[in-house]
Amino acid sequence: MKLETLAIHAGRSTDPTTGAVTAPLHMSTTFERAGDGSFPSGFGYIREANPNRNAFETCIASLEGGSAAIAFSSGMAAIAAVIEAHSDLGRPRVILPADIYFGVRSLVAKTDIGRNFDTAIVDLTDLDQLRATLADGGASLVWVETPSNPLITVIDIAAVSEIAHEASALVAVDNTWGTPILQRPFELGADIVIHSATKYVGGHSDTMLGVVVIGSEAVELSAALRAIQNHKGSVPSPFDCWMALRGVQTLPQRMVAHCANAQAIAEALAEHASVETVLYPGLTNDPGHDVAKRQMSGFGGMLSFIVAGGVAAAMEVAGRLQLVTRATSLGGTHTLIEHRASIEGPDSMAPPGLLRMSVGLEHPDDIIADLMNALAA
Ligand SMILES: *Cc1c(COP(=O)(O)O)cnc(C)c1O
Repeated sequence: MKLETLAIHAGRSTDPTTGAVTAPLHMSTTFERAGDGSFPSGFGYIREANPNRNAFETCIASLEGGSAAIAFSSGMAAIAAVIEAHSDLGRPRVILPADIYFGVRSLVAKTDIGRNFDTAIVDLTDLDQLRATLADGGASLVWVETPSNPLITVIDIAAVSEIAHEASALVAVDNTWGTPILQRPFELGADIVIHSATKYVGGHSDTMLGVVVIGSEAVELSAALRAIQNHKGSVPSPFDCWMALRGVQTLPQRMVAHCANAQAIAEALAEHASVETVLYPGLTNDPGHDVAKRQMSGFGGMLSFIVAGGVAAAMEVAGRLQLVTRATSLGGTHTLIEHRASIEGPDSMAPPGLLRMSVGLEHPDDIIADLMNALAA
């Protein structure tokens, strides 16, 4: 079945006891045993498994085309679990891309993940750098985030996967920004896919959870991830899973609209004299354009732009916006903007004049009018 159909039907069926078309929300923490001590429903205790989480996991595994999905309480919990789980595979060294969600850099810098694993930071748009790093010390896992945060760089998943596999490293793709609608990491050779479902999958800025999807080549990781999910216990609530399943039904249509709006806004910003650079792979002169055109079916809903005049000018532009909301996070219906360097704090590597936008689902003319007004003053 096609993605539009799976988004609505995968993992779900009409409720057999009530006929409810929308799956009921089961908040029960525990499930009754039969007289012989068995669990006839297959469920025993909420942390081990529960109906809403199972449905969410089945749906996301199906949308990504993976063999299994394991849900966590946040995208970060999912990312931490993957790094921990892969260490069973020996030589635990992780290659991280140069531009990456700030939380992953903090995870490595500030928690036991950083103490327990060697990491190397590589510009994955430069495949020779990847080859050289793998030749010098190897790696067990190559982490890909594309398009990346906040510089919107595009990494060639197929090329990275080929090089990583020659060196016996697994490839994990954070597909939060690509979504299974625009970008198909397993078809490009990746072994593991991660989502912050807090973003586009949920899609309405009102629920937090994460998920790891395992491809057919990495099934040995499933048991380790299940063990981390159950024993470390960073699990999403049934309500979060139910909300994400509600949101994901419109993901295919939302992504088309996010891409169209972002393209229109990127083109309008690129014309403006106060904008130094627009970072968006949908622009034909963007360095990531050619790879994105090959590996994505749309250029995504995220863009960044660099305002002439540095921090002060960028903050003033953001401060004058009336419709666009100044807030972090992404992937919801509202257009959000943030000055990335001040959100990330003193360790930030974001250019000082950079504003990152999560383009929402308002009419693009209204968003453009707000931006032009803010840039004009
Ligand atoms: C938000 C985000 C995360 C972290 O997800 P949380 O659900 O906030 O923990 C990881 N990767 C990317 C690309 C993100 O945008």
